[in-house]
Order: sequence, then structure tokens, then C-alpha cells
Amino acid sequence: MLKLYNTLTRKKQVFKPLGKEVMLYTCGLTVYDYGHIGNFRAFIFEDLLRRTLELNGFNVKHVQNFTDVGHLVSDADAGDDKMEVGARREHKTAWQIAQFYIDAFLEDEKKLRIKQPTIRPRATDNIPEMIEFIEKLEEKGYTYATDDGVYFDTTKFKTYGRMAKLDLKGLKAGARVEMGQKKNPTDFALWKFSKGAKRDMEWEAPFGKGFPGWHIECSVMAMKYLAETIDIHCGGIDHIPVHHTNEIAQSEALTDKRFANFWMHNEFMTVDGKKMSKSLGNFFTLRDLSEKGFSPLAFRYLCIASHYRSQMNFTLEALEDAENTVKSINDFVFRIKNTEGAESKKIIPAVEKADKDFMQWVNDDMNMPEALSIVFNLMKLVNKEIDSDKGNRSELDRVYDFMIKVNTLIDVVEEKSATLSDEEKKLIELREKFRKDKDYKAADEIRAQLKEKGIILEDSPQGVKWKRV
Ligand code: AMP
Ligand code: ZN
Repeated sequence: MLKLYNTLTRKKQVFKPLGKEVMLYTCGLTVYDYGHIGNFRAFIFEDLLRRTLELNGFNVKHVQNFTDVGHLVSDADAGDDKMEVGARREHKTAWQIAQFYIDAFLEDEKKLRIKQPTIRPRATDNIPEMIEFIEKLEEKGYTYATDDGVYFDTTKFKTYGRMAKLDLKGLKAGARVEMGQKKNPTDFALWKFSKGAKRDMEWEAPFGKGFPGWHIECSVMAMKYLAETIDIHCGGIDHIPVHHTNEIAQSEALTDKRFANFWMHNEFMTVDGKKMSKSLGNFFTLRDLSEKGFSPLAFRYLCIASHYRSQMNFTLEALEDAENTVKSINDFVFRIKNTEGAESKKIIPAVEKADKDFMQWVNDDMNMPEALSIVFNLMKLVNKEIDSDKGNRSELDRVYDFMIKVNTLIDVVEEKSATLSDEEKKLIELREKFRKDKDYKAADEIRAQLKEKGIILEDSPQGVKWKRV
């Protein structure tokens, strides 16, 4: 039984999908710059969620967009457009900027072993649908026009701000300055009119030439590629008070149905207690970490090992620890695949219990710190048994199966940890033959050759053992 924390109810709830497939929508990157590792914390959390659903036997239809248009620097519909700012900075068109950072994102995503979404639409490929959506909201009386755009009137949507528990009266009293012609501080742009210089990205619409507001794209793409009511919608907690609040308002105003059954949000990655963000300049990209010699999988592990609903303070020391842990997991997988001893009797009961406990913690709103501590306790026990030459093939195979199951979530095991190539196998066999023939010189040459490939051989009473270093 899988329980997930739902921001709508502030409770863990048993998860049941509406239909055969879980309909999952996750807000994607705004592609005006490289994603920073705080952004990737969100995408790794969503990857873990998807893998958890799949481990529980669900099929997942996962949609994640690219915000490749508009998206104003401030959530309050003011300031410059992020895409146009990126284009000016790099002397390219907004279209070129979008393509460049989409490609960069795809590379990073692959290195982090984040599963590809089932469908990955771009906002700019869905403009007619957005226009249609806004027209329908207009017909239902939810919108008004100002000099600079078409706005959603949040007072018309009776439960506006419920998920975020917004203090609407307080907001109204506090915000007068940046309102422009907006009727209420929480009203938001569905469409902005093009003004002044020609924009790289603008479209004709019945209400005037321009470009979509940020929030509309996710409602449109979630409904188009999934359904009017979806199972789970995700993003970082910064999306709760504005982006997701506005998605709910416009979607439910349009359909009179609930937009998403579960809303799930990851906490921030912070630096010295502050949210990692472009605007504060306190961010790293995955490329920065690679230049410092860290592997993307260490970063992946760091994210997976901290609870997604806890703040995660990023330090290079923590990343170094994660790098070591990934190595120890790989060494362990390698060891259990390539050693064998006498029957242990302790291993099977331990692994059966670990398996059960692991799943219980995973299914308790993805409590990975607890789930992983179960794995480490098992590793300790099995390592001790192997140190005293215990653990027969079938016992260690059972441990291996469990580790592979764990790896379906954490995905940090390198394939080479568990296997030898055919050529490597042949070399080891050849060395064995030379040793039998007492041609120790030739045997040592092969040992040296394998060492160069990072394979260390150990001769033991049970035969030759190997490990990769
Ligand atoms: P954006 O491109 O700004 O829409 O961000 C993409 C995703 O990253 C969203 O789900 C954000 O909520 C999330 N995000 C942004 N900054 C952080 C951070 N410092 N920690 C965790 N998630 C973040
Ligand atoms: Zn979104």
C-alpha cells in the first residue's frame, strides 16, 4: 500500500490511480539558461516518484513540459520575459536559446539517469490550445482585459488559494504598488500583449497579438496529453502559492472538475540556508560539479538519500560523502556477485526482512533515509559474513536480487560492477591455464594487463576472485 503526502490535504494518503495508468504531470524547466542543481533536485524527486509508482506495479504516463516561451522574471506578471532576457544576453533569438538549453537539459538528465517522460511537449507547440482555453474562460466570465493583457479574475473562483492557504485579505492590503490595472493582487495574466519592439515569440490571437502567461501552459498540456482530472501534479514548493494555485484556479474554473487528485512538492535545495536560485547567484550547474571531478551519480544519490520534503543544504563535503557511498554500493554489488563461501544461514532471513522493511519505508511517502538505512544494515551484515568466508551462491544471489530492486529506485549501480566483458573473462581463464601449467611469468603478465583495465585478481581457496577498482 503506497502512501503519498498530498499538499492539498497536508496529509499522507493512500494512493489509488483514477484509471489503469497513473497520469503524472511535472512542471518542466524554463529553458533560458542551464538548469541548476536545485532544479535537478525537483526532477530527481519526480524520477524517484515515478520509479516508486512503477515498483508498486503501476504503469505511469508521465508528461513534463518545457517552458520555452515567456515566463516573466517575477511571478507577479511584472518584469522582463526570461526567454527574451536570455536571448539578449547571448545575442541569439529566443528560439535558439530555447533549443540550446533544451539540448543541455537532455544531456544532464541522461547523466543523472532521470527517466525520460512519456511525452515531453513544448509550450510553443501548444499555443492554439492555450488561446482556445482562454477564450473558454472568457465565455465563462472569468477574465478581463487591461492595456497589457488578459487577466484571470481570482475573485470569481471561490476557492482561490485554498491549497496554498493564502491570506487573500492580507495580500490585498499589502500589495498596491505593482498592480497596474489589475483588479486584485492575485489576478494573473493569461495572455500578455506584445508592446513596443517586435518580439521573437509572439502570436496572433482574437484578443490581441502577444504571448501566453506562464501558468496557462501547464493546465493546457496536462489536459491535452493526460486528462481534465489527473492523478498527480508535481513541482518544487515555490510553485505552491502562485504557479500551482493559478493552475488550479484556471483549470477548475474551466472544467468544474478537480484538476489533480494529488499535489506533491519537493522542498528546496539551499545554500547557507537560502534557496538555491539563479537570481541569488548561489547556484551550481551539473557541469560545475563535473569540472570539480564529481560524478553525476553522486549528485543523484545525494538527492535520493535526503527526504524530498526536507530542506537539503548543499555542500561539496556532502557530495563527497555521497560519492563514497555510491562507490561502496558498487563495491558491494560487485563483491556479492563474485565471491562465494560456506552457507551462512543468517543471510536469507536478513535479506527477507530487509526487503519487507525497505518497501515499507519506500511506500511511506518515499522515506528514503530510512529505506536506505535498511540497505546499509544488510550490507554490513553480509560483508561481515563474506569476511569470514560465508555466504553461498544462492544466498548471495538473493542479496544481489534485492540490491537490483533497490537500484530500480536509486539507480547508481554501474553495469561494470556486476559483470565482466567476454574479453576480460577469456583473459582470466587464460591466466588460470598458465598457472596450472606453472607458467607463472605468462600468468603474471595477464594479471598486470587486467590491472591496467582496473581489474584486480585475488587467488583464494575457492578459486580466483576479481574486483574492479
Ligand atoms: P523553473 O524552471 O524555475 O520553473 O524550475 C524548475 C523546477 O525546479 C520547479 O519544479 C521548481 O520548483 C524547482 N526548483 C527551483 N529551484 C529549486 C531549489 N532551489 N530547490 C529545489 N527545487 C527547485
Ligand atoms: Zn507548471
